[in-house]
Amino acid sequence: MQLLKDRILKDGYVRAGNILKVDSFLNHQIDIPLYEAIGNEFKKRFSDVEVTKILTIESSGIGIACITAQSFGVNVIFAKKAKSKNLDSDVYTCKIDSFTHDKTYDVMVSTKFINADDKVLIIDDFLAKGKAALGLIDIVNQAGAKVAGVGIVIEKGFQEGGVALTNQGIRLESLVVVDSLENSIIKFR
Ligand code: 5GP
Repeated sequence: MQLLKDRILKDGYVRAGNILKVDSFLNHQIDIPLYEAIGNEFKKRFSDVEVTKILTIESSGIGIACITAQSFGVNVIFAKKAKSKNLDSDVYTCKIDSFTHDKTYDVMVSTKFINADDKVLIIDDFLAKGKAALGLIDIVNQAGAKVAGVGIVIEKGFQEGGVALTNQGIRLESLVVVDSLENSIIKFR
């Protein structure tokens, strides 16, 4: 997606630890026309699959999931990072290691919101090691629902997430794939 590549080159920057910062337009301050273009692009790329729900994880996935859901005309569910260890029994749960925060979260979704008939499109801002996406796939599987696909705004192609998903037979659509952040230079695939 050329618009996104241009914006990353203009306003993105690299932090230690292979972190690409896009906080001036994607996940802190939000550029709404860019979000709309992202939502439309996901709709185009997944136009051949049935989608009944969109699933993401709090917090930076929520806005992107909402704008994408508008294109599909479906609801969004966001997995919550549970604060308490006392999880209700009526939730699907999994553990997700956070790439950026260096900790493990218990994540949960109420069983009310995903059922076995659902075709769930998973949306997130970044794909790095794939832990967040794999955790959300686990939750969809617990519900007996189908994963329609995974849509990612920025895949870091030099990390293992993309391979981990495609090895599971998951349809992955990344709007931009970054192949290297070495020496603070952003290189796209
Ligand atoms: P994964 O679970 O695939 O290892 O990491 C994905 C999550 O980590 C995303 O939800 C995103 O919030 C965060 N993340 C991973 N890499 C980056 C990065 O380079 N920049 C930013 N801003 N977030 C990242």
